[in-house]
Amino acid sequence: MTKQQWFQDLVMQLDSKNVKIDEALNLHTMTKMGGVADLFVTPETEDQAAYVVQYAYNNDIPLLLLGNGSNMVVRDGGVRGIVLRLEYLNKITINGNRVIAESGADIIDVSRAVASESLTGLEFACGIPGSIGGAMAMNAGAYGGEVKDVTVRTTVLTPAGEKLILSNEELEFSYRMSLIMKKGYYVLSTEFELAPGNPEEIHAKIADLTFQRESKQPLEYPSAGSVFKRPPGYFAGKLIQDSGLQGKGFGGAEVSTKHAGFIVNKKNATATDYISTIEMVKQTVKENFDVELELEVKIVGENE
Ligand code: FAD
Repeated sequence: MTKQQWFQDLVMQLDSKNVKIDEALNLHTMTKMGGVADLFVTPETEDQAAYVVQYAYNNDIPLLLLGNGSNMVVRDGGVRGIVLRLEYLNKITINGNRVIAESGADIIDVSRAVASESLTGLEFACGIPGSIGGAMAMNAGAYGGEVKDVTVRTTVLTPAGEKLILSNEELEFSYRMSLIMKKGYYVLSTEFELAPGNPEEIHAKIADLTFQRESKQPLEYPSAGSVFKRPPGYFAGKLIQDSGLQGKGFGGAEVSTKHAGFIVNKKNATATDYISTIEMVKQTVKENFDVELELEVKIVGENE
């Protein structure tokens, strides 16, 4: 089957504006890098999303779910198969202490929405630039909080397109990991439980965390956030800084001079530049400290 055939089949169920051939993924990743997707599909309903997942499964077409692309490095040769993005499934519904957020909602927007209802528990997420789906898959966290702390249940599709509802315990959250990631499930929505809080304290906490983030992170350049997980007993950024790697890199990619845990796209970096910089950092830290840095970012796609 060709990608034109996939297109023809999918536009029987989705509007043609939601199915694109050869879409440039650098438009959809926060590093601003990456080649094209054979097919880029943005369903507008859960049923359409399930249809696309089942279609890919039944026809053996590789399927990649892209959230906000804030933790993803797409190689320069792009992605073969279908890239699915649930940006139109972005409803946020608050009911008492509970909030149901669809997969494509920004977790920053959810954090702000609950704060304005004086609910506490999601302040930590006020600066995490991911979607709800990406945050659940990665068990995103910051400043002592993680999504696992507030999750009640999450609705997912299995790779075969079957709908499941998983409780917090069933989601098997651990550091930047979940059952969703292990099984290749696709998040449709999630339900959080928060607690009533003091509005001034909530807003003061958000202001403080925003200040900390803006003063420490190189938000002025495209990046994928912290490239490496925290190795047990160390901080990745400190090991990289102590290796003298800040400002070093390949092509337009550079270890940030502001936060050594970030690799920034300083000037028209290719994914090859970015990945070469990652390899250089891993090798240098291994030589200097005998620590194997493990990737937090996901590298996907084909070399050119
Ligand atoms: P993507 O990057 O698009 O995808 C990441 C992974 O999740 C991929 O494997 C993808 O297939 C999977 N995925 C995406 N959507 C779904 C879905 N609906 N269902 C199943 N799987 C899915 N992370 C933190 O934890 N804490 C931070 O403080 C933090 N700060 C950051 C700051 C900056 C400036 C940047 C650029 C990134 C930061 N990140 C941080 C990383 C990133 O924002 C999080 O990991 C986020 O949860 C990724 O969400 P995403 O929607 O961008 O996912």
